[in-house]
Amino acid sequence: MTPGTWQAMRRQVKQQAPLEACGLLAGMNGRVEMRIGMHNADRSPMRFHMEPAEQWRAFQRIESAGLELLGIYHSHPNGPDRPSPTDIAEAMYPVVQVIWYCWNGKWGARGWRIEAGNVREILLKHSASV
Ligand SMILES: [Zn+2]
Repeated sequence: MTPGTWQAMRRQVKQQAPLEACGLLAGMNGRVEMRIGMHNADRSPMRFHMEPAEQWRAFQRIESAGLELLGIYHSHPNGPDRPSPTDIAEAMYPVVQVIWYCWNGKWGARGWRIEAGNVREILLKHSASV
């Protein structure tokens, strides 16, 4: 993904802390072209949930742009940097789960793929050259 997409996500999760923030990443061939910030319907520091109508509209936007859903991001304002047991249990789409976490006042993100309860890390690239 581009540095711009990366920074826009970081801005959103910082602004919405201490609540969890969330959103969608769409693109082609593993390359992110579109970021859609979503509302956390739970308004919670502990969990997130996307409102179904808003999610449906976002999926329509992605489809009409000829893109596919590549990732879902959300934040853990108090860590950890990996999916929680709830995240693993509720993972519904075979896409990269990007988790933003705050550690000692610094925000970072890691990517994870969750399949049938198994979790493995996916390296996220966000330099200008990829
Ligand atoms: Zn989580």
